[in-house]
Amino acid sequence: MRYISTRGAAPVLTFSEAMLTGLARDGGLYVPESVPQMSADEIAALAGLSYEEVAFRVMKPFCGESFSDDELKGAIARAYAGFGHVARAPLVQLAPGHFLLELFHGPTLAFKDFAMQVIGQLFQIELEKQGRKITIVGATSGDTGSAAIEAFRGLDNVDVFILFPHGRVSEVQRRQMTTPSEANVHALALDGDFDDCQGRLKDMFNHFEFRDEVGLAGVNSINWARVLAQVVYYFTAAVALGAPHRKISFTVPTGNFGDIFAGFIAREMGLPIEQLVIATNQNDILHRCLTTGRYEMDGVKPSISPSMDIQISSNFERALFWAYGKDGKAVAQLMDEMKAKGGFAVSQGALEALREIYASGRVSEQETSLTITEELARSGELLCPHSAVGVRVGHAHVSGATPMVTLATAHPAKFPDAVEAATGIRPPLPPRMADLFERSERVTRVPNDLAALEALITERRRA
Ligand SMILES: *Cc1c(COP(=O)(O)O)cnc(C)c1O
Repeated sequence: MRYISTRGAAPVLTFSEAMLTGLARDGGLYVPESVPQMSADEIAALAGLSYEEVAFRVMKPFCGESFSDDELKGAIARAYAGFGHVARAPLVQLAPGHFLLELFHGPTLAFKDFAMQVIGQLFQIELEKQGRKITIVGATSGDTGSAAIEAFRGLDNVDVFILFPHGRVSEVQRRQMTTPSEANVHALALDGDFDDCQGRLKDMFNHFEFRDEVGLAGVNSINWARVLAQVVYYFTAAVALGAPHRKISFTVPTGNFGDIFAGFIAREMGLPIEQLVIATNQNDILHRCLTTGRYEMDGVKPSISPSMDIQISSNFERALFWAYGKDGKAVAQLMDEMKAKGGFAVSQGALEALREIYASGRVSEQETSLTITEELARSGELLCPHSAVGVRVGHAHVSGATPMVTLATAHPAKFPDAVEAATGIRPPLPPRMADLFERSERVTRVPNDLAALEALITERRRA
């Protein structure tokens, strides 16, 4: 199994190389050269298996020679052992023909745990084989950082540093980053906003001397291994609802397009997915693009679903690569235009290809709150604001006999203020983490300054 860049001009890599590299050297994103197929019989045979067994069967063909069966099985078993629900990704019914896929039973209560937990384990196996140590540095507005810390805490060959904007993450998010006590975990509260965190992270990656000295690595959502781990729950949900004998549609609360693109890969593998519906909040670049054919940057407007507050959607490049018939040169041109002019027009052919698979909807702030209120009354489900964006768009796209599955991307207790404002109910943390507010915190306040940050990381990492 070989991995190529969406811009067509980077070295071809194996699975584990692509996983450790993240972003390709030509600025593109790694994708499999060809997508492994699963026959209807193989899909039917997934019925009744454990989540872990399905994960193994779905992920294995993408890994090539990088991991043995035992290594992959062990990584998957350890990744999901800490989840708070034995089904890992249980389905509940909201309405006739409309289901909710709960992806928030992991250790940090957001769907990012599904992928981050697996790649933490796979990184550890690969680094041990190579006798290497790395330093992971990430920037977060909340969910990615906590998921990364949870996944890499206590691993021997990895130090993990997470930059978050001081005073601008929720208390639950902050505590999930500052309470792990392992020596390889370093939570850094930066004096600045999320853009400053991302800016300094980019500066570090562009400072090659520092990058090589500390063995800098990234685990942001463009990492192919993260996308792959997310393909699994599309299979478990679809098979539970009658696939391959029946078609299924999915609605996905979307920001950087990693989660919904995993659904596209499931469809390419042979899962009978009729439609993938993109649900956006007021940061609606993707909805505008599908509607108008222009992909156009716009400033970020902070919302009550902050994990979807994006200016551009990085994994959408992978969707464009397919829509343009895997023409890396064409994708590179679009991305150059994006950089130079802040937007581009999608060709008619590519737009048609996208619209054959994807639909979209946008949800305002008021509609998000209203959906949380209404859904509690209608089905008894207490939704987080991100999931509410999905559910509203999902309801609007239920059609005919095809079941709709909306992905619930975070637990309501992770965003208690928005949920309480909409319902009057302050959602409690699940019992297994009820002591989060009593645990002691460990965090370093850092200035928005590259040299100071690099000095701190060099000093703190356990060489
Ligand atoms: C990250 C995140 C999203 C967006 O997922 P993408 O893969 O970036 O589209 C949605 N909801 C929650 C709660 C998240 O943490």
